[in-house]
Amino acid sequence: MATTICPSYSTCLTIDLGAIRANYRTIAERIAPAECGAVVKADAYGLGAAKVASALLAEGCRTFFVAQLTEAVALQDAIGIGSTIFILNGLDPGCEAMCASRGFIPVLNSLSQIEHWRATARQHGIPLPAALQVDSGMSRLGIDPEIAGALAADRSFKREVSLRLLMTHLACTDEPAHPANAAQLARFQTARSYMPGVPASAANSGGSFLSPDFHFDLVRPGIALFGVPPQPDASVLHPVVRLAARVLQIRDVPAGEGVGYGHDYIAREPRRLATLGIGYADGWPRHLSDAGAAWHNGMRLPIAGRISMDSLTIDISALAADAISEGDFVELVGPSQSLEQVAGEAGTIAYEILTRLGRRHQRIYVDRDRTENSASGVNP
Ligand SMILES: *Cc1c(COP(=O)(O)O)cnc(C)c1O
Repeated sequence: MATTICPSYSTCLTIDLGAIRANYRTIAERIAPAECGAVVKADAYGLGAAKVASALLAEGCRTFFVAQLTEAVALQDAIGIGSTIFILNGLDPGCEAMCASRGFIPVLNSLSQIEHWRATARQHGIPLPAALQVDSGMSRLGIDPEIAGALAADRSFKREVSLRLLMTHLACTDEPAHPANAAQLARFQTARSYMPGVPASAANSGGSFLSPDFHFDLVRPGIALFGVPPQPDASVLHPVVRLAARVLQIRDVPAGEGVGYGHDYIAREPRRLATLGIGYADGWPRHLSDAGAAWHNGMRLPIAGRISMDSLTIDISALAADAISEGDFVELVGPSQSLEQVAGEAGTIAYEILTRLGRRHQRIYVDRDRTENSASGVNP
C-alpha cells in the first residue's frame, strides 16, 4: 500500500473532506425534504471543526450543532455569521449574554436553563431564540413532555422565548428494531402536539437511517458524516480517516526475549519486530496491547506487548525481509482496517477512537470530489 510521506512526523492523519461532503449529500438525499444539519461538537469529532464545517457549507449545510459555548464561538469565528449554531448542552449560568450577543441558539434542557434564558430575555426586552429539548426516554437531557405543555400555555414564556426547534434525542438508533425507538417517538409526538408549528428534530446519524417518521424537519448527523456506519446496513458511506505510523526501528529478537513494559510479550521463537512511533498519547488505545494490529501490503502485523506512551511494537515476521524499512509508514486506519474494527478490538466505539486521536499527528486534509460511481475506500 502506498504510504504518505510526512517528514518529521511519526504519524500521519489524513482527513478526506470530499468524503465528508459525499456523506453529507447521501444523508441529505435520504432524509429530504427534511433539512440536514451537521453535528461538529468536540472539534468535529476530533477532525477539525473549522475545516469540516467549511466543507459542509460548500454543500449547502447551514445548521450546525456543537456541545458548548466555547465551541460555538470558535466555529463562528471560523465560518462567519450566516449559519445557525445550536449549543446542545445549553448554557452554564452566566453565559447567557455572550450567547445572545453572538446569536447562537442554546438548547434549553432543564427548568433552570429555561429560567436563566427567560431572565436574559427580560433584560434584553425582546424574545430570544432557543431550542427546547424534551426527554422522550433517554434520561439524559431535556424536560418532560408535560412541562413542554405547561410552557406552551404560559403566555409570558412566548413573549420571552422564540422557539426555533423542539428536539429530542434517541437512545437506540443503532438498533433499528429496538422498541425504545417507537416509544420515544410516541412521547416526542405528545410534546409536539403542545407546540404545533415549531420545527422538530429527533434523528442523529442512526435516526437518519430509520424510517421518515423519525426525520421531522431537521436531522442532526455526526458520526455518519465521518464515515462510520451508524447501523450495520448503513454501509453507503465513504471512509474519511486514514492513520499511518512510521517505523522507528526494526529488530530481530531471539526466542525467550521479553518485549515492552512488564514483558507481557515473550517471543516464543525468533521474531522480527518493528517499533512504530505512535502510542497511547496519540490516542492509540492502550487496550490494544497484545490485541490489535497494523497493516502493510494487505498483511496483518499483530501488536506485540504493551502499548507505550509514544511507541508500540508490531510483529513483522510474516513480511519479506525487504518489505519494510525504518522510516516507512504502516497503516493503522485505512482500507485494511476500519475505525470500527479498531474500536471493536479495543472494546470501545469509533466515536471514542476518533475524538481521542489528539493533536500530535501531521494532519493532511484532502478534498477529492466523489461522483456517484466512485468506489468507497479508494483514497488519493
Ligand atoms: C452527538 C449528538 C448527535 C450526533 O450523534 P451521532 O450519533 O454522531 O450522529 C445528535 N444529537 C445530539 C443531541 C447529540 O448529542
